[in-house]
Amino acid sequence: MERPPRMGSSLFPAPFQDLVDLFRRLPGIGTKTATRLAFHLLQSSESERQELASAVSTLKERLLPCSECRNIVASPPPESPEVPRCAICLDPARDSTILIVVEDIQTLYSIEKSGEFRGRYHVLEGRLSPLEGIAPEMLRVRELLQRLENPDIREVVLATSPTTDGEATALYLSRLVKPLGIRVSRIAFGIPVGLELEYVDEVTLIRAVEGRHPF
Ligand SMILES: [Zn+2]
Repeated sequence: MERPPRMGSSLFPAPFQDLVDLFRRLPGIGTKTATRLAFHLLQSSESERQELASAVSTLKERLLPCSECRNIVASPPPESPEVPRCAICLDPARDSTILIVVEDIQTLYSIEKSGEFRGRYHVLEGRLSPLEGIAPEMLRVRELLQRLENPDIREVVLATSPTTDGEATALYLSRLVKPLGIRVSRIAFGIPVGLELEYVDEVTLIRAVEGRHPF
């Protein structure tokens, strides 16, 4: 266990310590790694630092959500009439009869990296949570139902996390989707209960998708 640094006791001058503190706010980065990254930047060239700063500061403006699934897409040039659609939604070789519902883009990429799932995605952008005040209208539920008007879609796989909120979200969605005559399945196999899906390794995740069961 790392002890949090005492206030005002930093060995480093403020500009350096500020950078270390910023890195420490990132997931998975402790004091040691944060300090190493800051020293690395201190020793790197001006252009390397500029490149990093620019990649960070323009990240949001250079990306758009896919108009179908909400995956991220590189922004088209300004005044382009194109509606942004991601490579997965544009790929005619993907199976358009099966839609997998995930909470976030990280989970989409975890499943995608395995290369085993050939259907399409729908990113909910969260999960229902009465405690946090997250209601269905704050998620991409309406958009999901709109997509399901496409008669090609025969199965919806609910890949929300096996947490209480994730399960409640899956149940809520299944009650909406089943009356439409679309098969609903839920991933199950090999995922420890209570775990956020974005932390599950790809092999486990793809087994979970393959081992899905009717829901
Ligand atoms: Zn897409």
